[in-house]
Amino acid sequence: MQVIVLGSGTSTGVPIITCPCKVCTSKDPKDKRYRASLLFQSDKGNVLVDSGPDLREQMLREKINAINGVLYTHFHFDHLDGLPDLRPFTFDTKAELKCYANPQTHEVILTRYPYIRNSAIYSNVPRISLNMYPGDEEKGYRAIEVAGMEFQPIRLVHIPQAGLLSTGFVVNKRFGYLTDFKEINPDDEKYLYNLDILFLGSPIDHPHVSHIQQQEALEIFTRFKVKRGIIGHLSHQYLHSELLTKWHGYAEPAFDGMQITL
Ligand SMILES: [Zn+2]
Ligand SMILES: [Zn+2]
Ligand SMILES: [Zn+2]
Repeated sequence: MQVIVLGSGTSTGVPIITCPCKVCTSKDPKDKRYRASLLFQSDKGNVLVDSGPDLREQMLREKINAINGVLYTHFHFDHLDGLPDLRPFTFDTKAELKCYANPQTHEVILTRYPYIRNSAIYSNVPRISLNMYPGDEEKGYRAIEVAGMEFQPIRLVHIPQAGLLSTGFVVNKRFGYLTDFKEINPDDEKYLYNLDILFLGSPIDHPHVSHIQQQEALEIFTRFKVKRGIIGHLSHQYLHSELLTKWHGYAEPAFDGMQITL
């Protein structure tokens, strides 16, 4: 299995439009951060996690010509709103692209993109079959298999005050990806121990209404005894080179184009 970091940035992307700060004007390519998304590759195909607004550029950059399925974490625009750019993946095939989401995300996708329900009667709309993760938010989800890889959904709370949920994944029992969240459902913590890699989203190192802060990410790596911790969904407050030094021995900052082989 291979994992490609398609985007390591927070919702604005980095650089931020109009921002003159040292990170947004940095010449280091590792300080250019597209919106958060990962690609999982096996010898059977590709699975995309989220289709953010930078999807088109990400697919062209990594020369991705086929997708076997898309798993959504939640409905925020930085994770969802490149959805129309999934169209080329079904131009030459009769099959619909299989997408999965939790119930909240499922509902928002159908509200925001109502035409995907009737893709047969439109032309030039994404041909998607939209599914929910098997199981439920109350009792827990069951793993799904896509492109020969097993994805175990992990229940997360993204914005507790708003009741906004998100979904993380543990892939092949080895790689965890929890991006936008404040809380992990305690009943799903059992999936997170002793992973080879845990990739957490944490934009900043001070309290945030909808994300864990970076110090908490470091504590989670220790608590679950993960072998390698990676932090993404990064803001424009930190140079890649600064984070490398700051987290040396504890975690690694994600960067666009980062590849991990397992
Ligand atoms: Zn996000
Ligand atoms: Zn900036
Ligand atoms: Zn979010």
